[in-house]
Amino acid sequence: MIELDGSYKEGGGQILRTALALSTLMNEPFEISDIRKNRPQPGLKNQHLFCVRALEKLCSAKIENAFLGSDNLRYFPGKIKGKRIDIDIQTAGSISLFLQAVLLPSMFADKAVRFNITGGTDVKWAAPINFFMEAFLPQIKKYVDIECRLVKRGYYPKGNGKVELKISPKFKIFSYDNFDEFCNDVKENTERIDLTGQGHLIQIKGISHASSSLQNAEVAERQAKAAEMALKEFNCPVNIQAEYNEALSTGSGITLWAIFSKNENEIDFNNPIRVAGDALGEKGKKAEDVGTEAAKNLVKKIESRAAVDKHLADQLIPFIGLFGGKIKVSEISNHTRTNIYATEKFLGNSFMIDEKRKVISKE
Ligand code: ATP
Repeated sequence: MIELDGSYKEGGGQILRTALALSTLMNEPFEISDIRKNRPQPGLKNQHLFCVRALEKLCSAKIENAFLGSDNLRYFPGKIKGKRIDIDIQTAGSISLFLQAVLLPSMFADKAVRFNITGGTDVKWAAPINFFMEAFLPQIKKYVDIECRLVKRGYYPKGNGKVELKISPKFKIFSYDNFDEFCNDVKENTERIDLTGQGHLIQIKGISHASSSLQNAEVAERQAKAAEMALKEFNCPVNIQAEYNEALSTGSGITLWAIFSKNENEIDFNNPIRVAGDALGEKGKKAEDVGTEAAKNLVKKIESRAAVDKHLADQLIPFIGLFGGKIKVSEISNHTRTNIYATEKFLGNSFMIDEKRKVISKE
């Protein structure tokens, strides 16, 4: 049985989510100790239990010690079966974090997997849903067909945002004799992840959103306007949409993403280059400051000249571990190093890290 130390480096929930995803895909049981040891309230939280519940449905997994606050867990995956899974995280637990545990195995099921997920779409310390849809999903589209629909936003504390996904596998893991044959076939029939240079900036897009309780104060428009002002220095079209949602909790946010092409006006759809910046509104913070913060965040990433920002980097690690690839990152974060640790536990030590050039690769 594979053993993981949940307190390794970042010591957060991501080691667990990556382990759940890879264990399910590879049909390899694991146990983890000291879960989320470096977080203020260590152990399993509700949002992690919902990942486990969903995987019980997806692959009839057997789980030991899955209860609130548990500092260890044993997980025995079963066969992944395409089906419809409804999950209500009940609070504003992040939908994009939940997907880190369930998306990867669902991508290689025997038939389509549909998720109807209720939870937080734009919450602190997690990828905003538009980052997931616009920066992360385009990178993995070569492996799978995914339709993702944001039905409704959910802000802290009540959440109640809704996201629907239909994941239609191109490669089905159980149609191969063994795991290596599966990986080799995927590698042979898809282009590797290859994100080493930014190329030309061709466009900046964005979505500025707020709950309808903030419509009279024109919060979404003000966030968007402030971001546009702060992005004036770039000689490219900037298109930021403002929108309002009937959300249970009052909230707002803005996600911006820059689209690059390798050669002028030629976007590489196999390895799309996208870097993103975001910010969330909160009580007492001016809408203009939220927009400016997101824009500055994006400017910093564009100026880094790296094709992959630190968030996308940690999220791509399991895919690079499985199918190979090369990324040049703005920063090798603790999250990225932790995710390399979790991925190598399942796939063996095989990542190369060029600390000086900030390039992470795997054959
Ligand atoms: P837990 O809260 O379960 O302990 P964790 O501590 O591992 O989980 P975080 O460290 O907050 O969770 O980060 C989880 C993930 O969210 C990482 O993949 C990180 O890159 C991503 N993430 C956090 N903030 C952003 C952001 N602003 N944009 C994109 N991705 C983000």
